[in-house]
Amino acid sequence: MSFLRIENPATGEPLAELPADDATSVAAKAARARAAQSGWAARPLAERAACLQRFRDAVASQIEPLATVLTSEVGKPIRQSRNELNGLLPRLDFFLAQVGPSTATETVFAEGGMTERIGHEPLGVVANISAWNYPWFVGGNVFVPALLTGNAVLYKPSEFATLTGLQIARLLHEAGVPRDVFVPLVGAGDVGAALLAQQVDGVFFTGSHATGTRIAAAVGPRLVKLQLELGGKDPVYVCEDADVGTAAAGLADGAMYNTGQSCCSVERIYVHARLHGAFVEAFLAEVRGFTLGDPMDEGTYIGPLTRRAQLDVLSAQVADARKKGGALRLGGKRLERPGNWFEPTVFTGVDHSMELMREESFGPIIGIQEVSGDAEALALMNDTRYGLTAGVFTPDEARAKGILARVNAGSVYWNCCDRVSPRLPWSGRGDSGVGLTLSSYGIQTFTRPRAWHLRGAPVP
Ligand code: NAD
Repeated sequence: MSFLRIENPATGEPLAELPADDATSVAAKAARARAAQSGWAARPLAERAACLQRFRDAVASQIEPLATVLTSEVGKPIRQSRNELNGLLPRLDFFLAQVGPSTATETVFAEGGMTERIGHEPLGVVANISAWNYPWFVGGNVFVPALLTGNAVLYKPSEFATLTGLQIARLLHEAGVPRDVFVPLVGAGDVGAALLAQQVDGVFFTGSHATGTRIAAAVGPRLVKLQLELGGKDPVYVCEDADVGTAAAGLADGAMYNTGQSCCSVERIYVHARLHGAFVEAFLAEVRGFTLGDPMDEGTYIGPLTRRAQLDVLSAQVADARKKGGALRLGGKRLERPGNWFEPTVFTGVDHSMELMREESFGPIIGIQEVSGDAEALALMNDTRYGLTAGVFTPDEARAKGILARVNAGSVYWNCCDRVSPRLPWSGRGDSGVGLTLSSYGIQTFTRPRAWHLRGAPVP
């Protein structure tokens, strides 16, 4: 038997060693999920919803210990771990309130003895392969609506967030979801690959573009539903009429929250030439005000990176930007101490020849580029393979909407950034992925339609 070793990213010390799954155990779990799914789907929605309601209440009553587990394994500052758990609750409330209306059978035609109806049925057994950066959010966006709509879920948490994944499983099982209906798998990419080899009816993946394309290649020939929520290189444009203080504070938070490890982190900033100098000074002051330190400390805003390998990515982006003439204004190097630490880093004088402005950084590092006006800003915002989010800061609503309507991104922000709402669909374009979660569409996506053609007396 092999083991998954879990480390504290703040110290490098071992946290746990867990027995990992292998191809044989994954196949056995998939078979059990297949056998259990129809019974779960046959239960009335109210029964499934009652389980998820109990899960919600259990999370709400255990925020502190769950936040501590999350911080210990991913290094997320403790206040931000609490924020994630507290933020999960309204998402659960949304799904619980909306699953009925979103999946009710619709009568779309009834005339002359002919009735047409659309039914919504579960996909069956779905694979949920998840990321570590917001395990409660990105996992919950999948397994909550999937379970509510009658699917069985084979859940592969990231190897960097497995303790949290097992807490999720424990709470769901205690809340009444059968063990064979929500099934956690322990392990790294090889266990994810073993899961994809099973007969599943849908694959819902959150993670990097590199892994997403591998998964697409593996799953494509099987013709099962595939959703990929991938990375981003999200831009924000600050117009010359924006309020400097508000924009700087909002964007510093958008770039550095969760130590820059959000899929919708601000990754590129463009500032109108007339505001550039003032904005950069205000932005630097905001970032200097962030406390870097032990993620268990209440005052910490910037913690360690979760993955050690990302330190090399950030160092390479810094070296590349410096070589090509970028001005390093703050930070720029890893901290020589145990754990995965990188200084908050700000560049100005950057351009799109630099990796910093082209490749996902996923860390506390940002480039600020001066632009001559809206046309140049729009062209640069769209000069990317990704398309997750984009934002504009200006008091002028018409100007913001005019720009945002022409940006190729699934979510757009006026005077805000790094924001996700359960009521709105979350989708990426281009290399940011295919499919969506959240909103009523993000419930229906776990169902398949059945078209009913009914000749006879109108069905009441
Ligand atoms: P990752 O691609 O390294 O891993 C994601 C998951 O895939 C893990 O569970 C991993 O074990 C598994 N995996 C790895 N190789 C596999 C294989 N060959 N077959 C099957 N599964 C495999 O990503 P990560 O580091 O966990 O997450 C960070 C990335 O996720 C960033 O790029 C971020 O932008 C993205 N992300 C996107 C969203 C979104 O909503 N668009 C949300 C969160 C994170």
